[in-house]
Amino acid sequence: STCHALLNQLNSFGSEQIRNVATIGGNIIHGSSISSLNPILQACNAKLKLIKHGTNEQCEIALRNFFLRNNNVDKERDEILLSVYIPFTEKYEYLQSYKQSRRRKFDSPIVSCGFQVKLEQIQFQIDGFVPEFKWKIQSVCLSFGGIASSIVMMNKTQDYLKDKPWCKQTMKDALKYLLDELTLNESTPGGQAEYRRTLVASFFFKFYLYVKEQLQKTYPDTVVDEISSNELSAIKTYVRDLSRGEQEFQSKPISNKIVGSSSIHNSAYLHATGEAKYTCDIPTPSDGLYSALVLSTRPYARIVSIDKTKAEEVPGFKAFISHLDVPGCRMTGDVVNDEEVFPSSIVYCVGTVIGLVVADNEMDAQHASKLIDIKYECLKPLIVTIDQAIKQQSYLGPELSLKFGNLEQGFQESEHTLTGEFYIGGKEHFYLETNCCLAIPHEHGELELHVSTQNATGVQEKVAAALGIPSNKIVVHVKRIGGGFGGKDSIRHIRLCIAISIAALKLKRPVRLTLDRNVDMLISGQSHPFKSLYKVGFTSSGLLKALDIVLYSNGGWSQDCSVPIMERALLHCDNVYNFKNLKCYGRVCKTNIQSMTAFRGFGIPQANLICEIVVEHVSSYLKVEPIELRQINLYQENDSTHFNQILINWHVPKMWNELIKSSEYYQRLEEVKRFNRENHYRKRGIAMNPTKLGLGFTRKHMYQAAALIHIYRDGTVLLTHGGTLHFDNWIFNFDYIRNEFHNSLAEIVLLDFYRILTKSLLSIRLDPFA
Ligand SMILES: Cc1cc2nc3c(=O)[nH]c(=O)nc-3n(C[C@H](O)[C@H](O)[C@H](O)COP(=O)(O)OP(=O)(O)OC[C@H]3O[C@@H](n4cnc5c(N)ncnc54)[C@H](O)[C@@H]3O)c2cc1C
Repeated sequence: STCHALLNQLNSFGSEQIRNVATIGGNIIHGSSISSLNPILQACNAKLKLIKHGTNEQCEIALRNFFLRNNNVDKERDEILLSVYIPFTEKYEYLQSYKQSRRRKFDSPIVSCGFQVKLEQIQFQIDGFVPEFKWKIQSVCLSFGGIASSIVMMNKTQDYLKDKPWCKQTMKDALKYLLDELTLNESTPGGQAEYRRTLVASFFFKFYLYVKEQLQKTYPDTVVDEISSNELSAIKTYVRDLSRGEQEFQSKPISNKIVGSSSIHNSAYLHATGEAKYTCDIPTPSDGLYSALVLSTRPYARIVSIDKTKAEEVPGFKAFISHLDVPGCRMTGDVVNDEEVFPSSIVYCVGTVIGLVVADNEMDAQHASKLIDIKYECLKPLIVTIDQAIKQQSYLGPELSLKFGNLEQGFQESEHTLTGEFYIGGKEHFYLETNCCLAIPHEHGELELHVSTQNATGVQEKVAAALGIPSNKIVVHVKRIGGGFGGKDSIRHIRLCIAISIAALKLKRPVRLTLDRNVDMLISGQSHPFKSLYKVGFTSSGLLKALDIVLYSNGGWSQDCSVPIMERALLHCDNVYNFKNLKCYGRVCKTNIQSMTAFRGFGIPQANLICEIVVEHVSSYLKVEPIELRQINLYQENDSTHFNQILINWHVPKMWNELIKSSEYYQRLEEVKRFNRENHYRKRGIAMNPTKLGLGFTRKHMYQAAALIHIYRDGTVLLTHGGTLHFDNWIFNFDYIRNEFHNSLAEIVLLDFYRILTKSLLSIRLDPFA
């Protein structure tokens, strides 16, 4: 039982890499309040053998007495953990552990627990009947992580349970004690107080079922409440089969054309072997300097003073760059210039880049950046959420709306209407390489930038404006992005290039900036959180008739690209359904959080999700399968979208029907229903969601592309373009082109590529003899 319970935790402990280096001793002494191991080690009554540092003095202490409630581990102990004694369970003793984290693996627990109970058999006899055996609790330990500042045992509940019979009624009564004893409230670190309480209760219930099942198996003649097969689903261990997938390739493309053929990603082997060179791998020139950002620690405040005296005392300190050093335009931005390059007076969110410290090495730069002493005067009103912004009428950009059909009439024709509200949070880009750039000044005030960017043109243009120099003095190199997903596209990321470019030109030396992950996450923005309010009209047979939808997004403190993102959301709030009459309205909220920015999908995932929520709402109201409702409302060929696009060559209905068949959807649905009938505590679900994705940008100027083609005297071709390797396999497209057209240049330049940007020096060699 002890080994099983320990294994249970170890199997889901961190990840393989972490398990390979972490030690049990380190985990115990670290004393984390969300440790996976300490609760179960407490429950089994593990003993620690400690040795006093520098002596031979040894002592033994039970882990149950090792943690101090408000001070994880007794830091005064000048001792080293020598060994851990883990006792086996005895007869009638049961041990189990549970953990809930956001991900099944790779994550610390939200709540972890270790439970132990030792039972005693009691014989009782009623005259004339065969003697029966019951179970009494002899000792019990309930240890939890994730519910206080350290691992805690529930002493009051344990006291209550002692000598009680092991039965459902005892558990119900004990649960009240347990929840009373929990000190969790809304201010608990990590939040989610209600969720954690629910986890505590459900783990306790699982343990009760687990012990009951064990008793029933081992001692079938003893009395415990009957356990139904329905209940057993609560204690079954989740086993996920190995994921598998298949992709079918045509052995030979239909023609020699691009579509239908397959090829390995140009960088696949480099990525997989670690050979690929990223921006961070580019060596700093010998006279290069390093920089670190100085960030606002207040969400909305006036800067009263900036004192750099202490930073200047750091040995490698070279300079503090601030708004006073911006030689060109002091305003910048993505769609509109609504951000100061460095704030001269007001900061609008925690993580506003106030300045840059430059030093001889990275450690000194980071150390000195923390010594810049900034005094603030906090301002009001502080607006953080969408609701607060609506209340304060705090918005960015214009009101946006679209109308199609006659909404009033649509609702009149509807037999039912429903209203609802839905909220989606933001998402972090989490690219593998954090933002990184190197600025190298050259003769005549020229600047060479190596950047992990998705937007080489934007970097060139905005840096030139802030420096007050022409664009042609700046060359941007993008070797590899290191992951972007929109996080290295907008002004959020370009601001960093501006900052180091100012420093490099001022100091006349190369300067580099590589962000730590926490800083990157603080300053780079996320996808937009959205809130939607909707009213939908429909018939009893599920035909959608009218949709009135309002979208609010949390744009943060400046516009960035929030307005185009809202436009894209409004253009996709119909997903693939013909609502016939539709009105949508969108507003970007201005708040005191970091500006939200481009993110894969650019507003479409939020809008699609909201639309699907509306459809789910209608289907649950009408008690019909969502898939059926989806099917009868799909746009058909020649229908018009709410933005007046006639759908020609509209294949969604055909694909939808084919996929229902090929995925055996209805058979699977029946299996899910059967599983759910048979399992009370564990449920399964199945869904099929269609989607359409509008191609292109809502700004025509973004459709430009340029490339420079050199034809050399030996017949080889060098193609210089500004494409950056991000969502699609860009370089690989060029390989195709080479194969496809056998270097027929006329055809190459006629091809309509996805967005080609200027000034990147990425070159593709086209070999005529390949
Ligand atoms: C992605 C991720 C996921 C994680 N998931 C989990 C999880 O699921 N569950 C969980 O519990 N934790 C998790 N962790 C935390 C991590 O596993 C622990 O921090 C780790 O177990 C610590 O062990 P270590 O050997 O590295 O200790 P160290 O970090 O080396 O040491 C921790 C502390 O203990 C002291 N120490 C170490 N050994 C001794 C000794 N013999 N005597 C005296 N003092 C000592 C050290 O001086 C230090 O102060 C996760 C961490 C990461 C990064």
